[in-house]
Amino acid sequence: MSHDHSIRRRMLFAGAAGLAAATAVPLTARAAQASQGARVAQPAIDGTAQWGASPPAGTISLVQRRPAAIIVHHTVSSNSTDYSRAQAHSHARWVQALHQDDNGWVDTGYNFVVSRGGYLTEGRHRSLETLLGGTNFVLGAHTSGANDFGIGISNEGAYHDGAVPPAAQWASLVQICAFVASQYAITPTEIYGHMDFNNTLCPGIIHDMLPQLRDEVADAIG
Ligand SMILES: [Zn+2]
Repeated sequence: MSHDHSIRRRMLFAGAAGLAAATAVPLTARAAQASQGARVAQPAIDGTAQWGASPPAGTISLVQRRPAAIIVHHTVSSNSTDYSRAQAHSHARWVQALHQDDNGWVDTGYNFVVSRGGYLTEGRHRSLETLLGGTNFVLGAHTSGANDFGIGISNEGAYHDGAVPPAAQWASLVQICAFVASQYAITPTEIYGHMDFNNTLCPGIIHDMLPQLRDEVADAIG
């Protein structure tokens, strides 16, 4: 486990202490906070049927609790300058084919994908329906050892070699993270990058931007 990760672990404990302090907040104030969280607008997310997904190659497994963390990835696709919804759908099909056909997985490994144009797509089937329910989530295949507590959100493109995410993609990443955090009561401090858990370059420079992502998600949640 990296030194960086141990620092984050300590931050998690600091967060737990903060949570304990929050129990002293009057009930009405906490109810107000909860309703404020629930007001995070649901961003448009194109489901598997909308982007023409292939059926799962087997059973989709659900984890019967809320995820405790958001884990951010990049798909290592080409950095397309086609920012259209059609490209978002094409990219979603490319990822699914890679994961099903090349990796032999049941379905797309990620729960959600953000296109370079800022379009959001459902990854593994049932990820959207469970997100809207807010009580359980789909077991993905994106982070070894963390799939049963981390929900995986990936970004179209390759960000380990100098490129930075387009502004529209970043804005949608903030939106989906805020909505997921709100639906599942995940605190923004529990947003991680793939490299926090596995020996990988993923998600590239987006990993350096995680403090900014946590701040912007916290602002969005209010
Ligand atoms: Zn990754």
